Amino acid sequence: MHVYDDEVFKMACDQFEVIADYLSIDKNDRERLMYPKRAVAVTLPVHMDDGSTKTFQGYRVQHHLTLGPTKGGTRFAPSLSLGETAALAMWMSWKCALSNLPYGGAKGGVTVDPTKLSRNELENVSRRYMQEMIPFVGPHTDIMGPDMGTNEQIMAWFMDTYSVYMGYAVNEIVTGKPVAIGGTEGRREATGRGVVYLVERAMDMLKMDPEKCTAIVQGFGNVGSVAALSLALKTGLKVVGISDAFAALYDPKGIDVKAAEQHVLKKGNLRAFCQNNHVDPNELLTMKCDVLVPAAVDRVINSKNAGKLHCRILAEAANGPTTPEADLILEKRWDEIFVIPDILCNAGGVIVSYFEWVQGLQSFLWSETEVTDKLFRILEHSFTQVIRRAKEHKIAHRTAAMAIGVERVLRAKKTRGLFP
Ligand code: NAD
Repeated sequence: MHVYDDEVFKMACDQFEVIADYLSIDKNDRERLMYPKRAVAVTLPVHMDDGSTKTFQGYRVQHHLTLGPTKGGTRFAPSLSLGETAALAMWMSWKCALSNLPYGGAKGGVTVDPTKLSRNELENVSRRYMQEMIPFVGPHTDIMGPDMGTNEQIMAWFMDTYSVYMGYAVNEIVTGKPVAIGGTEGRREATGRGVVYLVERAMDMLKMDPEKCTAIVQGFGNVGSVAALSLALKTGLKVVGISDAFAALYDPKGIDVKAAEQHVLKKGNLRAFCQNNHVDPNELLTMKCDVLVPAAVDRVINSKNAGKLHCRILAEAANGPTTPEADLILEKRWDEIFVIPDILCNAGGVIVSYFEWVQGLQSFLWSETEVTDKLFRILEHSFTQVIRRAKEHKIAHRTAAMAIGVERVLRAKKTRGLFP
């Protein structure tokens, strides 16, 4: 039993062990690479609208500081634990290294359901969380960003709380901020856009005609909605399935994704959208489509449904959507299903966060075209490297992607010494 004990952390460790075996990493280096450098847990007392005071649990985990400061999102979710936060921080480390960004991985969050808070309560939780984090983070130590349950406004409250403490505007302390306070053009769309860029690359390799292809997207938040819209309106696929935490829809004739987006902007979720097309959310992932995009929570593709997936491309927009047991099944189905593993597929978010941080440090402003061009260049390089490594070594795409990331961190640790 240790502080990170948790199913998701165990999954991240199991994935790491597969890579460590493949790379023949010495046992003296394994634990050092796997366990977070440090973590903090905080209790957040917050005044609620009804006059009561509630406490919430918050965390921040910094996985390693070998290549630069740590970088990672902030998750507001009712089931968040320290172990899950540590798993997400570890994945961030391999993701940043795969994209060659000068960061270690981090992750943080609060165990809270943000949909149950008023705007005022959400602001109180956000500001209190950042206030507790001040001794632990900084533009050269640990830079926060958004993740599930957080958004641009919450990043603005984080930035403001930190800046008030410092006495001047420190916009490089968080990424994913509104453009009005130093955010970068294209950050909100970056993860979804990156997912779709990689789907297009895979379709190109597999000689699939987008106009004749269908897609299903699970999760309709920042990442899922941008990916679904872009797949439908830019790439020309027919999006036949979408879902969120409240409803799942399937329509073989195609779903009007733009109308779904407008509906969610007004009503908050998909519950009342096109009710005639509602299906069992558990079945959506195994319905027939060419491109399946899990863009919500972890472990949705597992030993029970991996054998039943009915897609040609699995684009893992979420973090950790596929369990190691499911990976074994997908490895056997390698010629049926082309997997774009999470640390490659959703890297667009952290890549553009890196651009935002660089612009903040240098007080520079880049145009959206510049940002998107630079994003696609990095993704192209990572995609090519992963596919080449997988082909040459006859290994799964996830093994190839993680191996490239882990190797870079290991090399840096060996070069620097024991401390970081
Ligand atoms: P978000 O909070 O904006 O949206 C999450 C969506 O998933 C919502 O529509 C929610 O209703 C839905 N959802 C939650 N539980 C669900 C379930 N059981 N079934 C179906 N839908 C469910 O979050 P996001 O920022 O879009 O993040 C989605 C995923 O992408 C997460 O795994 C996150 O870690 C990952 N990710 C996000 C970013 C980013 O830039 N936001 C970057 C990299 C990875």
